[in-house]
Amino acid sequence: MEEAKQILKKYFGYDNFRPGQDIIIEHILNKQDVLGIMPTGAGKSICYQVPAMLLDGVTIVISPLISLMKDQVDSLNEIGIPATFINSSLSTSEYYQTIENIKYNFYKIIYVAPERLNSETFINLLNSLNISMVTIDEAHCVSQWGHDFRPSYREIANVILNLSKRPIVSAFTATATEIVKEDIINLLHLNSPYTLVTGFDRKNLTFKVENSNNKLEFINKFLKDHPYESGIIYCSTRKDVDKLHNELSKEGYSVTKYHAGMSESKRSESQNDFTFDKCQIMIATNAFGMGIDKSNIRFVIHYNMPKDIESYYQEAGRAGRDGAPAECILLFSRSDIVTNKFLIETIPNQDHTNEYKKLNYIIDYCNTDKCLRKYILEYFGENVEYEKCDNCSSCLSQIETTDITQDSQKILSCIKRMNQNFGSNTITDVLKGSNTQKIRQYHFDSLSTYGIMKDYTKDTIKDLIYYLVTEGYIKTIGNEYPVLSLTPESRDVLFNGKRVVIKKKIEKIPEKIIITKHSYDDFNLDYNQDLFNILKSVRMEIAKSSNVPPFVIFSDATLAQMCTYFPITKERMLSISGVGENKLNKYGDSFITPIQNFVTENNIDIPTFKVPQKRESKPKTQKATTVKEKTQLITFKLYKSGLSIEEIAKERLLQSRTIEEHLIQCFSDGMDIDLSPYVQTQYEDVINDAINTIGTERLKPLKEALPENVTYFDIKYYIVKNQKEN
Ligand code: ADP
Repeated sequence: MEEAKQILKKYFGYDNFRPGQDIIIEHILNKQDVLGIMPTGAGKSICYQVPAMLLDGVTIVISPLISLMKDQVDSLNEIGIPATFINSSLSTSEYYQTIENIKYNFYKIIYVAPERLNSETFINLLNSLNISMVTIDEAHCVSQWGHDFRPSYREIANVILNLSKRPIVSAFTATATEIVKEDIINLLHLNSPYTLVTGFDRKNLTFKVENSNNKLEFINKFLKDHPYESGIIYCSTRKDVDKLHNELSKEGYSVTKYHAGMSESKRSESQNDFTFDKCQIMIATNAFGMGIDKSNIRFVIHYNMPKDIESYYQEAGRAGRDGAPAECILLFSRSDIVTNKFLIETIPNQDHTNEYKKLNYIIDYCNTDKCLRKYILEYFGENVEYEKCDNCSSCLSQIETTDITQDSQKILSCIKRMNQNFGSNTITDVLKGSNTQKIRQYHFDSLSTYGIMKDYTKDTIKDLIYYLVTEGYIKTIGNEYPVLSLTPESRDVLFNGKRVVIKKKIEKIPEKIIITKHSYDDFNLDYNQDLFNILKSVRMEIAKSSNVPPFVIFSDATLAQMCTYFPITKERMLSISGVGENKLNKYGDSFITPIQNFVTENNIDIPTFKVPQKRESKPKTQKATTVKEKTQLITFKLYKSGLSIEEIAKERLLQSRTIEEHLIQCFSDGMDIDLSPYVQTQYEDVINDAINTIGTERLKPLKEALPENVTYFDIKYYIVKNQKEN
């Protein structure tokens, strides 16, 4: 396990495994099948990526979402792990090139779409490889009881059975009812798997329910208070998406939208804008989400109450995948209940009992003053021992009760006077004293309750009515146009002096937020926001030039750490969670320099409490070293075969900069390589002068001091050449 920890640090830049990761990895390394059931954001990928680096051959990862594969492979390549993917997004030539590379054992991890398993050529290819592990991501797709059944997942067991040597099989999912779990084990033919269920809790997420009549006002205020954050706002209808998108664009927010009424190209454009942080806020229906791997979503707001807890937890769970604190807010108004009932009734020819049951659970969630986290976890069958999580709106609020007996009596007696024969709209109109055709027709303006609540807004009156419905004082009859009638309880209010109270949550001002309790890792909310914004723009520039989403460069959690510990040397930078050796080499300078400038300009005392980890200069992990050497060697061989840097980059589906790194490394290692055709030797003298004044510790100042045409490649080449000559 020491080796696994070294891989975690060296490549991923993390000091410790999260709960469950180590034990799963240990079983894999002992050649046992595993099934990991862990919530989103818990870190399932590392459970197979780390052992993949320690096992002899290659790991095949079967993953259902094409859109995610590229990000995952980009992320792995960024940290120096040779990986690729095969799916229908590849052009024919890219496909054949990838297959060619696979045959030459270029990769340690290959992501594959399940549909490939139907192809005989592909199976033959698999059989020619030394496959040490097959990983099945989103393993619930094999089960018809899961929510994303994929028939091609049923092929997996057969394919594995027909391989010449049975590899270790590891399966992962966040969904696990007992029946899905059994399906995964049986249908994937897992062999006495070590099964780990870590529970559903996402402790870095804060859950909130806001009772709101003016949702737009709430959102405006929220966005003003969270100016730099990326988030999703879910609405239940396309119309609401369009409307909210309009409103927020007018206010000048950086918004985009997504719903099934938009063309495919428009949808994919706005998804990209969001993923690549070109737009901060996504406004969408529930059509948006499958296949979103954006890790730095800091909030998910539900503009309307969703239809059940399952959908809510799945959608809200898209926040905070990076493990840093994030907020999930459900904006509830009682009219959401009506919309949802209406939506249920539109499902034809079906018994709707189950849907109504589920709807009632989420209505209760919106109304409960008990711990929201406990409510959700218990809904999913978990045993929760605490009463308060201290990280949801119930636990963070004081409950204030208001007596609404008089208002309730006005409403109930109005219903009675209207012969319990009308819906909430007409009753509201009567109480408000509106002058409508219907009121005149039925002479409701002569009732004693006409206009008796004229000082209230219609929304407030409706809210009170819905409250009385949910509390059982009013019964609704009929589904499409329900009429309101009285219940035995309402008679008690009208005639027997029963009091009605409404509970309202008042948010407590937190004394001091100690956030480590609410995140997986060492995460401090007191990071420097100004520096954070500077580093975010540095990240954005790098992401743009490498054409990858910003979170692939560094996660928000990693940037926040930099803004807490101010790493101004490479050694300190390496102690930041999320900075591994490869990223340090590639981006260290780009981040260290602005941090240094910031620290100097702002006179910052650098905290000394995070002691940089003592690291051995040569890691013991033989296998990992071989991989790194191997990827250089592949570049070297291609170079020797006469390809240019650009051609090698294209062929290997890697960045040119990575290929340059490889070649410089080969040159530094004394391999027979002549890089002079790529170097602008005319600048050697100026580079030499600059090195004499600035030194070689950091490349960025050197680059800045030199004429613009001088490239990093020129500088590095000169430094290595010089070192070799001396
Ligand atoms: P999942 O697949 O379970 O939803 P991921 O594998 O995407 O989760 O991991 C979520 C985030 O947590 C990623 O940003 C990942 O880099 C980070 N992470 C995973 N393991 C660790 C760890 N041991 N220490 C710190 N961060 C981690």
